[in-house]
Amino acid sequence: MELATNEAYEKMLDHIFAKIQRGRSGRGERMITVTPEVMHDRRQTVILNYRSVAESMNREPAHLARFIFKESGKPGIIDGERLVISGIIGEEELAKLLQLYHREFIKCPVCGGIDTKIVAEKRFRFLVCEICGAKSPVRKI
Ligand SMILES: [Zn+2]
Repeated sequence: MELATNEAYEKMLDHIFAKIQRGRSGRGERMITVTPEVMHDRRQTVILNYRSVAESMNREPAHLARFIFKESGKPGIIDGERLVISGIIGEEELAKLLQLYHREFIKCPVCGGIDTKIVAEKRFRFLVCEICGAKSPVRKI
């Protein structure tokens, strides 16, 4: 397995995440504080610092992982600190998935704040905002 980092790639990644961080997400400066370190081989994608990435987004690693598996259509497992995905997810695709996850499961649709948590009630899930108190339904994944 070869570490897929070179200067051009790192620049691109910096660019993508800088763009996400500058996005219109209210107090979004804390959105992603840990940049994923991604490795590929022929058949799989490994995010080396996955657990830190999920925790920096203040979400359960298992929840974000289910989202990535579901949206990409590729299965995988959490292996300690790493996320191992069967199949190739490019850096841009991964950044896009994280952006979608942020929009759906982190950002409060009412005030745009990101101090939120996911609360389960019976078979429903809600995104509860700790800033404005809004409670917005989210899908179960
Ligand atoms: Zn809110």
